[in-house]
Amino acid sequence: MIGCIGLFMSSWQEQKAERNRLALARLTRTLPQIFPASVLRRALGRPFVPPTPRLAIDSYWRAHPLRADRLARALAAKSGAPPGWNWQLASDSERDSGLPTTFRTPPAPYRERAHARGPGFCCICGQPAYRFGWHADLWQSGPNKNAAWHSACVVAWQFWNAPGGEARLLRRLQARRCGQTGGRLWRDAEVDHRVPLFQVWRECRGVPWPRLLGFWGLPNLQVINRIAHAAKCAAEARQRAAETTTRMAPNLRSGEVV
Ligand SMILES: [Zn+2]
Repeated sequence: MIGCIGLFMSSWQEQKAERNRLALARLTRTLPQIFPASVLRRALGRPFVPPTPRLAIDSYWRAHPLRADRLARALAAKSGAPPGWNWQLASDSERDSGLPTTFRTPPAPYRERAHARGPGFCCICGQPAYRFGWHADLWQSGPNKNAAWHSACVVAWQFWNAPGGEARLLRRLQARRCGQTGGRLWRDAEVDHRVPLFQVWRECRGVPWPRLLGFWGLPNLQVINRIAHAAKCAAEARQRAAETTTRMAPNLRSGEVV
């Protein structure tokens, strides 16, 4: 039995080595003379070497979501918001406008049909996208007309929309301490927006884009224990209910008078 497993392992290792040899040959063949050194270093150190420069770049950003988050927001700051833009949600008749349908989706003006910059520009940050979805024109070849996203912005967008997928990374960043209580983080800890997104929509709509994006990025994220999370959500719900009652009270009073 042990002999069978040993045979299987060695065959698997041989297959892996062969696959890596072919991938490396293909990557070397297609690699341009100029290529980001940090990306190449990582690609060559992978258990499975990415076979193309594009895949090497994607793999690099997937491994560095926080770097991608920072970069995407910095690129967006270069673009600024389009003139006259403000954060709006799509009504039922505007489903194909590119407007977000919920305040949980980060505002992205350049994804909206009215403000899209067209081929060669990233729809998240609004900056030109170059070869391999890179954000700088290392090759002096101008914007890549086939690109509509930076590779980094794809990863940032995924992180902003589903930060729970990077819980392990965020836990490590907090030295495994609960962001709410300071106590030890348990296995069931959850990723939370310090300022809840409903509050961002309600109270921070005037914050200029792309500073708004910070509410979806690392500056507004924390990992907290499930019990602390439930208590925080309950307190937020109570606050929402109290605010709704306060807002409705004058109407009710005026209704009584009428
Ligand atoms: Zn971008």
